[in-house]
Amino acid sequence: MSTPPEDQLLTRLRSFHSEYFPRHQQRFQDLVAQGQHPKTCFVGCSDSRLVPYLLTGAGPGELFIVRNVGAFIPPYDGSHGLHGTMAAIEFAVLTLEVERIVVCGHSHCGAIRAAYDGVPDEAKALKAWLKLAEEALLPVRSSAEALRRTEQRAVVLQLERLIAYPMVQRGVQAGRLSLHGWHYVIEDGEIHVFDAEKGDFLPASEASNPGTGPYRQYVEHDGQVLCD
Ligand SMILES: [Zn+2]
Repeated sequence: MSTPPEDQLLTRLRSFHSEYFPRHQQRFQDLVAQGQHPKTCFVGCSDSRLVPYLLTGAGPGELFIVRNVGAFIPPYDGSHGLHGTMAAIEFAVLTLEVERIVVCGHSHCGAIRAAYDGVPDEAKALKAWLKLAEEALLPVRSSAEALRRTEQRAVVLQLERLIAYPMVQRGVQAGRLSLHGWHYVIEDGEIHVFDAEKGDFLPASEASNPGTGPYRQYVEHDGQVLCD
């Protein structure tokens, strides 16, 4: 009897342990000894082409990652029932005391397309979940341009929901937490960051900051807060 070929997934697990881990062992062990202290909570779409570690150049211990279909944030009022995304945000802010929350959507997002086209009736949870993008939808047929705009509008909509979380609002008002809306264009390899003052998404290569939200207080040089 011949030996069955080794499963590729198993090969990769072995390779992580024998090749990657020995080179980075100290870092992982420090993270165990000292605990994790990530500064960034990254809420991203589950899409396989969105790779947060590659995009941000982060390593182990740097990103607290929450992923779901569409990178959506459920409303804090609990109207969407029990939700892991809410729990993760509460944990990130209250326990880990992260300094940034990034909401990252992307081009060619299947969730946004499905929000226009619908999903099979059997996908009950997905159908309900996609309602979290409803307010971002445009009253036009889903052209490539409309989809792109909707993906970006959905990011801003999630930021608006996020700021309604009391612990997020407190953190932002105290200046210890900032919110960032990103739209990743897969084919260009570029993040477009939401600039609240310009009210638009700018390519990171041209932006002056890594994205701000409509919630951020604008403080003049004399310390006066212009709007909140
Ligand atoms: Zn997506």
